[in-house]
Amino acid sequence: MTATAMKMHVLSGGKLKLRAATYYPEAARDDIVTFPCSCILLRHPQGNVLFDSGCHPAVATDAEARWGGLAKSVVPAMAADDNVLTEIGRLGLKPDDIDLVVNSHLHMDHCGCNEFFAKASFVVHAREIEVADDLASEGKGYFRADWDVGRPIETIAAERDVFGDERIVLLPLPGHTPGSIGALVALERSGHFLLAADALSVRANLERDIVPKNSWNADLFRQSLAEIRRIESLGATVLCGHDPEQWKSLKKGAEAYD
Ligand SMILES: [Zn+2]
Repeated sequence: MTATAMKMHVLSGGKLKLRAATYYPEAARDDIVTFPCSCILLRHPQGNVLFDSGCHPAVATDAEARWGGLAKSVVPAMAADDNVLTEIGRLGLKPDDIDLVVNSHLHMDHCGCNEFFAKASFVVHAREIEVADDLASEGKGYFRADWDVGRPIETIAAERDVFGDERIVLLPLPGHTPGSIGALVALERSGHFLLAADALSVRANLERDIVPKNSWNADLFRQSLAEIRRIESLGATVLCGHDPEQWKSLKKGAEAYD
């Protein structure tokens, strides 16, 4: 490992209870499962990049105040201190140490802590901003308070190599939402990881070509699944946005992949 190697930390952005049938069509209607919200910190020699910022800390104690009626079907189920800010603190970092926040999309469980990263730049797909900015989207997974935090947001419309060294490459994976993006990460020892976020919330959807109920466009979702399969076949490890089983198997917090 060289001094300039990159480290990847898997961090918790909170936990959400929702119907298992959202992701697993065969599940009973009353089957409620707790899903983790994953955030990934990439400690690149040129800066700290946070891929997704999870849920806002306030929803652990009063979800309805922030999420309104949506809090009835998507129910926070985490301890009051289970959020990405606490997680970053455990690594000895402060929010101001984050240089770049990439949001896979602008649903409330992926950009809820954006407001705390006062020194960061933000990158989001252009289509995602369009949708989130539409008044009709407010409250339907999108909340302006989460993503419109008074700082400039750089938009992308195609692949983007963040530092120009192929170690963090953002790539569009639409379907869950119009502007969903993933990140292909290259680590020296652990190899390639595809951070799929909600282009693949749970592993079972990839294996069985299942389009979850909360998808915006089924055809595009399937096309993105095919792209995820292609990248996996080249040797990448795919990290899902909300997979309870995969979550258990990952190194988390201070225990980094490098
Ligand atoms: Zn989402």
